[in-house]
Amino acid sequence: MPPLTLIELAAQAVGSVYREVADAHCGDQPCPCGWRPRLAADLAALQAALALSAGPAAPPDLARMAVLGRA
Ligand SMILES: [Zn+2]
Repeated sequence: MPPLTLIELAAQAVGSVYREVADAHCGDQPCPCGWRPRLAADLAALQAALALSAGPAAPPDLARMAVLGRA
């Protein structure tokens, strides 16, 4: 299976979970937690999280690295 196809399937699973959770928060007897789905804003948040985690990793901060040897 091509890598991107696998990732698309994973994204579909996330979308499906979102839809189930959103549906549980709508209707006659919604979940009492008070959260209400806002599709556009929720998708923007999911896209931002995806972009953040898929982007290049930040370079390591030398000031925070443990010193492992002596020169
Ligand atoms: Zn809830």
